[in-house]
Amino acid sequence: MDNTEKLQLLNQFTRRELTEDEVYIFDVILCDNEIDRDFEQFSLSALKTLQELFIGKTGIFDHDAKSSGQTARIFYTELSEDSERKTSSGENYVCLKGSAYMVRTSANENLIKEIEGGIKKEVSISCSAAVQKCSVCGVNKRTKNCPHTKGKEYAGKTAYVILDKITDAYEWSFVAVPAQKNAGVTRKFFSDCNNSYDSNYEPEIVQKLYENLKKDVTRLCFLCGENADILKSAADRMSVSELLEFKSELEFKRRSNKNSQLAHENSKSITESFRMTKGK
Ligand SMILES: [Zn+2]
Repeated sequence: MDNTEKLQLLNQFTRRELTEDEVYIFDVILCDNEIDRDFEQFSLSALKTLQELFIGKTGIFDHDAKSSGQTARIFYTELSEDSERKTSSGENYVCLKGSAYMVRTSANENLIKEIEGGIKKEVSISCSAAVQKCSVCGVNKRTKNCPHTKGKEYAGKTAYVILDKITDAYEWSFVAVPAQKNAGVTRKFFSDCNNSYDSNYEPEIVQKLYENLKKDVTRLCFLCGENADILKSAADRMSVSELLEFKSELEFKRRSNKNSQLAHENSKSITESFRMTKGK
């Protein structure tokens, strides 16, 4: 694939047509069919599904990546088979390669240098698999128990789990420590694949919503005359449903207090009702 073709493909994901000078294009190995350090292995059909699902997916580089705009997007994926190289289970080695692009900015100049210099080359991916098949007895460990523990030996063979029926792929990121021993890629694995809530929202979006909710609650505490600092630290330990409940209480309080000077007087009762939602 030449650069013109690459540009054509990646421009499907951009708001306006980008030129070659504006983007930085690089390749990553997302995952492979080798048994990894967690004694888990993607099946070939899992890799095929991931190949489709990872197109258009965003990659992040560190925890601050979202705020600093240091993200890349996969615009093309392919499976690459090496018949010379065998996996530890004796199959031809197959890996899923992705081509990604970043829009060049002054903020990601150094990051691009790190990628070019091979410093940031380990990739981890997040996905869900509905089937986790035991390599010894073939049972789907997601739905049924079996006596085999991955990593342990049975009749001279190490048990592992084959990941199949991929239901979702969330994101990919550059990490420091690779879990897959050969490819330099790791996999963060979500087992709650049947959860429609999870499959509709990327984890980073869920995290953002949660942070926003906490901010709303802290702001409302302040507006209602509560001790925002104390409640902020309490909010940090609250579940989403507790936060939502507390937020609506505060909103109600705020509406009733709007033209009143009694906000400080009323603050104690809010704290009491908050305690009740925490089950104290
Ligand atoms: Zn088993």
